[in-house]
Amino acid sequence: MLIEVTQIPPEGLDVALPTGELDLGESAGVWDGPASVQAAIRLSRSGRGVVIGGTFEGDVSLICSRCLEGFRFRTHDRFDLYCEVELPVPPDDERKLDEDDLDVTYLEEGRINTDHLLRENILLNLPVQPLCREECRGLCPQCGANLNLGSCGCQTTRTDPRLHVLRKLR
Ligand SMILES: [Zn+2]
Ligand SMILES: [Zn+2]
Repeated sequence: MLIEVTQIPPEGLDVALPTGELDLGESAGVWDGPASVQAAIRLSRSGRGVVIGGTFEGDVSLICSRCLEGFRFRTHDRFDLYCEVELPVPPDDERKLDEDDLDVTYLEEGRINTDHLLRENILLNLPVQPLCREECRGLCPQCGANLNLGSCGCQTTRTDPRLHVLRKLR
């Protein structure tokens, strides 16, 4: 959904985003397909920008970093940010970003893209190395069998499953 900043009334605007599939973009092997989320956002104007507070809740299909099986991950969080309306910048003006600028998002053409906003905040909330469960046994380094389904019979000394992840990254 695109929200025009000029259409936000002085008293603010509450938006309940329709429940549905949200395209999360490139997965990099961490998640699998779109997320199914519910979200509510409150927008209010402030100075040259907009203060945005939101909450979201839903499911993301993640890929376990040990056994590579998909699983549902329940995610919920809230976020607060400030979007500044972009001003035309002369091309020779080398803008220096200081730390205060890091949580400022510049709006494109005076519009807020709620899908983009949600996507960023959901991705920030995902585990770096998703696990289907804490005690996931991962894959057999020799035959690739999913050891959660039982022993494959390979003669291996049991290795730390975290090593499989290192192997994959190489
Ligand atoms: Zn797993
Ligand atoms: Zn095996």
